[in-house]
Parts: sequence; structure tokens; C-alpha cells
Amino acid sequence: MHELSLAESAIALIEDAGRRESFHRVRVVRMEIGALSCVEPEALRFAFESASHGSCAEGARLDILPIPGEGECAACGIRAEMETAYDLCPQCESRPLKVVRGTEMRVKDLDVE
Ligand SMILES: [Zn+2]
Repeated sequence: MHELSLAESAIALIEDAGRRESFHRVRVVRMEIGALSCVEPEALRFAFESASHGSCAEGARLDILPIPGEGECAACGIRAEMETAYDLCPQCESRPLKVVRGTEMRVKDLDVE
């Protein structure tokens, strides 16, 4: 249900923007989704479609821009790519990396008409 609430808040944000910037139709929605956000892209597409019914984003194409996970080690200071939020430091293996990137789940921009 993570994806559904994400889709609903994205639609609410888009509708707010539509009122503020007076557009009525959204053609493309681009969302940044981090590898560590636990968002399933296919589930998000499905949720987006159902949440957008009756909104200005109904029928819009959803582009998902994946953001790779990245973490920093507090012990040795290196930065490394992360596949899960619990990855150990690949260099010193002493502790889990601290996530610095990859938890994004947000609307980046819109194509509107
Ligand atoms: Zn380390």
C-alpha cells in the first residue's frame, strides 16, 4: 500500500500545482524513485493510474526516473553504491553504510497543457 499512498500524494501535489499555475491537463509526470525507497515501479504505475482518475493527471504518462542508492561509511569514509538500506561497507565491512542517496520518491516535473 506504500505505492498507493505515494501515488495519492503525488496526485494531490499535481492538483495543487494545477490550481496555482492554472493548467488543466497533464501529459507526462516524471517521478524520481530511489533504489532504497522500497517502491515497486510496476505497483506505482498501477496505483498512479487508479489514483489519477478524475484528476488533471488522468491519462498522463508516468515516467519513472530511477535514482541509484548510495551510502557513506562512518568508519572509513568511503562512498559506495547500495542495493539495500542495510548494506555493509564494502571496504571495511565494519558497519552498515549511512544512506546519502536513493530514498527519493517525488514528482520531479510535469509536462502540462
Ligand atoms: Zn567502511
